[in-house]
Amino acid sequence: MSSQKYSRRAFIRKNGLGGLGLLAASSLLSNTIIDCTNIKGRPAILDGSAIRKGKTWPDWPIWNPETDSSRIDAVLKSGVWSRATVVSEFEKKWAETVGARRCVTVVNGTNALTVALNQLGVTVGDEVLVPPYTFIGTIVAIINNGAMPVFVDTNRETFQIDVSKIEAKITSRTKAILPVHVLGLPADMNAIMTIARKHNLFVIEDACQAPLAEINNQQVGTFGNAGCYSFQNSKNLPVGEGGAIVSNNENFIDRCYSYHNFGYPYGSVTGAPDAGALRQGNKLRWTEYQAAIGLAQLVRFQEQTNLRNTNAAYLRSKIESLPGIIPYKLSPGVTRPTFHLFAFRYQKEAFGGLSRTGFINALNAEGIPASAGYTPLNTQPYLSEVFQSSLYKKVYPKKMLNIQSYNSNNHCPENDILCNEEAVWLFQNLLLGNRSDMDDIAAAIEKTHANAEQIKKSIG
Ligand SMILES: *Cc1c(COP(=O)(O)O)cnc(C)c1O
Repeated sequence: MSSQKYSRRAFIRKNGLGGLGLLAASSLLSNTIIDCTNIKGRPAILDGSAIRKGKTWPDWPIWNPETDSSRIDAVLKSGVWSRATVVSEFEKKWAETVGARRCVTVVNGTNALTVALNQLGVTVGDEVLVPPYTFIGTIVAIINNGAMPVFVDTNRETFQIDVSKIEAKITSRTKAILPVHVLGLPADMNAIMTIARKHNLFVIEDACQAPLAEINNQQVGTFGNAGCYSFQNSKNLPVGEGGAIVSNNENFIDRCYSYHNFGYPYGSVTGAPDAGALRQGNKLRWTEYQAAIGLAQLVRFQEQTNLRNTNAAYLRSKIESLPGIIPYKLSPGVTRPTFHLFAFRYQKEAFGGLSRTGFINALNAEGIPASAGYTPLNTQPYLSEVFQSSLYKKVYPKKMLNIQSYNSNNHCPENDILCNEEAVWLFQNLLLGNRSDMDDIAAAIEKTHANAEQIKKSIG
């Protein structure tokens, strides 16, 4: 139901008044509305009682000592703490989990992206097309390679890279597209792969937020040349810190492996016996106890993902008809979304002009943790600092490093609206609750709506 079709009656029904809603058409209407307000109560932000009073949300990350500790204890007792068989076991399982032929782990998601770009040959002087609606780690990976991030605006409906704006940004320097499956929702990979093939570009998928998400039953992270993941504490498979690169290209993963281990030989990357390091390398290896944590988390991973999906679908059905609340839209062909974040767009006009900050503060006061999410990455101060570095000055023509012209070429107006005005995030652990927890979220939004003008008057 669209917001235009939204009726007062629907609002009453959604507020849990049940049968009373049926009376809405009768002369009791005005009384019902008054009752309704009473039942919703005074907003917690105006010193009313919080909807979540005395309730907690599921913890994150989860650790069950009875089932999870034995593996990590065995690692600790073995004295083999550096990379060995447990890390290899995790890599095999991760490749299976995401449906890729091979996997190599590295210290974090940022370095997974950095190494993947590097081993595909993305380097100084190259441009990489990337959405601004992402975590800074995505952009850091491009800059770590001396390459130039070129921002493609966000589709506000899907929160993903706007595929209709990619081709206009391709130049003779463009080497790769770096789509981000942000929130856990797939970017439009069919369109992206078509463009990449046409222009002979690499595709590195930032799937840090989206393991298990699918388009046409194929997992994101397996469409492009490489898929990159993060196992940082907040991510859906938490290890504390950690990252992984997957690919179906065996030689590429062998090269990534070699790089993460000082450039020593590995698999198809071979040299004369005892030749030592063969190529430029780094040291980005996992420890065995990280892998033991990851393997313990993997046991619950599918089940948790399914639970989040069930709760997200239910929550969506409860809030999508509310005025001023527009949930994420899925890209074409998505057969399985996942949820690192549950996002919707907030339109303050439907809330009597209550600012997004006011709305979020009101939800927080009701006990619903919510956030405004990202600030635009295409205008942050790091860029001018990078452009003043001796490396960038050596590599790029002066006019490319002019921050004013860079900013105007990389202007992303849709993303600005999303970041600065509309986006609201609910964190993934909320979706590990039950139906009544989802009802509380919807009720908090409705309560805020019912009292929006009053909240605005007192907090602005
Ligand atoms: C978390 C994240 C990263 C970086 O991963 P780290 O493990 O924190 O380095 C990159 N991109 C996205 C979209 C992320 O969410």
